[in-house]
Amino acid sequence: MKTVPMPFLDLTAQYRSIRHDIDSAIQRVVTSAKFIQGEEGDALEKEVASYCGVRHGIALNSGTDALFLSLKALGIGQGDEVITTPFTFVATAEMIAATGATPVFVDTDDNLLLDVQKISGAVTARTKAVIPVDLFGFIPDMDAMQRIADKYSLAIIEDAAQSIGATYGERKAGAFGTCACISFFPAKNLGAYGDAGMVVTDSDELANTLRLLRNHGSQKKYHHEILGYSSRLDEMQAAILLAKLPHLDGWNERRQAVAVRYSDALRDVPGVLAVPVIPENRTCVFQQYTIRVQRRNELQGFLKSVGIPTAVHYPIPLHLQPSLAFLGYRVGDFPMAEAASQEVLSLPCYPELPAEHQTRIVKAIQEFYS
Ligand SMILES: *Cc1c(COP(=O)(O)O)cnc(C)c1O
Repeated sequence: MKTVPMPFLDLTAQYRSIRHDIDSAIQRVVTSAKFIQGEEGDALEKEVASYCGVRHGIALNSGTDALFLSLKALGIGQGDEVITTPFTFVATAEMIAATGATPVFVDTDDNLLLDVQKISGAVTARTKAVIPVDLFGFIPDMDAMQRIADKYSLAIIEDAAQSIGATYGERKAGAFGTCACISFFPAKNLGAYGDAGMVVTDSDELANTLRLLRNHGSQKKYHHEILGYSSRLDEMQAAILLAKLPHLDGWNERRQAVAVRYSDALRDVPGVLAVPVIPENRTCVFQQYTIRVQRRNELQGFLKSVGIPTAVHYPIPLHLQPSLAFLGYRVGDFPMAEAASQEVLSLPCYPELPAEHQTRIVKAIQEFYS
């Protein structure tokens, strides 16, 4: 077995393939000397909104800010409750708490997504919203989610940080609920060269509030209508993202091809408990390709020893994180999410993943369980 280490993700390969477009985008911004709130950001908002099939895009500092400001724009704060999944990146629940509201967790389903069937049981008179997460690029059952939200008059904030380009029926990630939060963190499917994010929404009112909130409550210089924040996206990141957006669908297709090859090779390996299963009417964009396995930590150690990096998304469900201990949850509260945290393993999955690397990864997993 070869032990030359390979990367988990190789962003330099992507840069090499589009170097000319990126370099000229950066040059354009530097030459214009317009660095904040200019044409690049405006163009990116229009392009991403239209890509997602909604009317407005509000470009922000990060996906985390997109979550925080969406909650603020909806008037959510102290005394309110927001339902979400314990099996996600911390920002989803952390930003609920940052507004003063209380994150209320509901366990996950077989697909590692917020279990729609369990939402009703967690709704109280204080519940204002639900944040479903398109985990690993896979959109939950949004028709069922919308029925429940309508029944209890809840806003839906779609955490689409990992799913730009994924589809559910005819619609794309970002087009569900009241608004959706996109992350352009460098490792995401559409990654900036620094922090960046966006809220996309069909609501004129929400879009206006978000534009105020991201810029000190101001539309006109030195006139401040409401208390806000500093969360504008800079022009450099916007120009880079504009150069990358036309490649997104192609990159997502290559991730899907990588995923199909993994699943075909690993589905029947003893020790592999589950490979991702995507229903007919949905497409997943595989922000991560994550399997569930027996003896996960041992397998991870073995793969590392032969130069194969892997990642665990996520090793500790959010209800058991020290930062959220004040919520009072205990081990055993969300058995599905807790089991998942022991069994999940993400394998290298990116558009430029060399075929030889994938062959090596598959062989090593087969060898470990043989
Ligand atoms: C990446 C991510 C975020 C946060 O986005 P940033 O741009 O890193 O702030 C939020 N939620 C989920 C599910 C994410 O994966």
